[in-house]
Amino acid sequence: MTELILVVNFGSTSIKADLVDPKTGDSQAALSIERLGSGQASVQINHASPSLAPDNPAQALKQFLPNLLNRQHDPIRATAHRVVHGGDEFTEPTLVSEQVLEQLDQLSHLAPLHNPPAINGIRIVSDILPDLPHFAVFDTGFHQSIPLEASTYALPTTLLKRHKIRRFGFHGISHEFTVEQVAAYLQVPSTDLKVVSCHLGGGCSVCAVDRGKSVASSMGMTPLEGLVMSTRCGDLDPAIPLMLQKVGGYSVDEVEDLLTRRSGLFGLTGGVSDFRDIERAARQGNHSCRQAIDLFCHRLLQSIGSHLAVMNHADALVFTGGIGENSQLVRQRICERLSNFGIQYDHHQNEIALSVSEQLVTEVTSAGSQLRVFVSRSNEAWAIAKCAFSHLNQ
Ligand code: ADP
Repeated sequence: MTELILVVNFGSTSIKADLVDPKTGDSQAALSIERLGSGQASVQINHASPSLAPDNPAQALKQFLPNLLNRQHDPIRATAHRVVHGGDEFTEPTLVSEQVLEQLDQLSHLAPLHNPPAINGIRIVSDILPDLPHFAVFDTGFHQSIPLEASTYALPTTLLKRHKIRRFGFHGISHEFTVEQVAAYLQVPSTDLKVVSCHLGGGCSVCAVDRGKSVASSMGMTPLEGLVMSTRCGDLDPAIPLMLQKVGGYSVDEVEDLLTRRSGLFGLTGGVSDFRDIERAARQGNHSCRQAIDLFCHRLLQSIGSHLAVMNHADALVFTGGIGENSQLVRQRICERLSNFGIQYDHHQNEIALSVSEQLVTEVTSAGSQLRVFVSRSNEAWAIAKCAFSHLNQ
């Protein structure tokens, strides 16, 4: 008999709920709510035609989750939820209790776009399914292996200790899974590979994975650092937020709102955060969208370069996430700019990447490329289900 895990994943602009067989990764029923907060939220169940959804994540989940559950007959063993920030306290998948939710809530200031909706999501799902165990699986867990020189900020050590300031790194569930996918494709253990993994979705990060372990991440103490993202600014001179407060008259809350919700691609384009829309507008000649893509690619290129340098050598560069999997343009720009790093880019392969529905990995470099480049279909639901299932059976 197949036992299922209901995986609920709150992204910054989307919610995905999947009934997953943790042994095979097969999804028996799936719900996807996209473009939340844009005024044009849409829902798809089992990839049927999209229909309109409430813009509010809680309302959308309450309305459509029962519909998903009615579509299968195998027993559900547990629910599993992606939680972005586990802080120092949570490094392993954790059975959720009221006390755990309260502890997670105390970390919300470190991931204001993510932890609050995930905690809210766990509460909503627990209400709908009160008899099931509910697991939280953390995006920070995979990065516990980042060495001190890469996880420490150059601030006074007493301050670092007092406020538990350090680089945590995020998207760990995705980076770990992606590297495993590439290793499976190459038929070698992930412990034999050095990989630079690029997760490019609503949030974006680069991670250096040295023989299966994370050794550097572009994201920091919070998921605000690093690349240009959909509404987050990424790297910034730390003097800028100070200047905005001293000279611009901004309050602390206004600065936080500005940097997390109104910057990045959204800020650069004057209000467009979805990469599909930005690419479309850029093709039609929109100047600010063109510049936003240039800036996005420039910062990504810089970050990939620094992560390659940290490992001295890499076998593979891999793209995943909504932009990584779907934007031929971003992959082409990066591959062409990195030709001196041993990438032999294959344009045709890039154009057809992941076009076969069952395909999990496509190589977009040609035979003989010293640094091989892959596109990997993310399947965070399976990665999360596996974690929860293994803890369920411990
Ligand atoms: P989240 O981080 O919210 O889970 P996803 O990983 O689903 O988000 O990625 C969302 C991003 O992927 C959006 O910016 C979306 O525009 C982008 N995206 C999806 N499809 C395409 C496409 N065909 N071309 C370019 N970008 C795309």
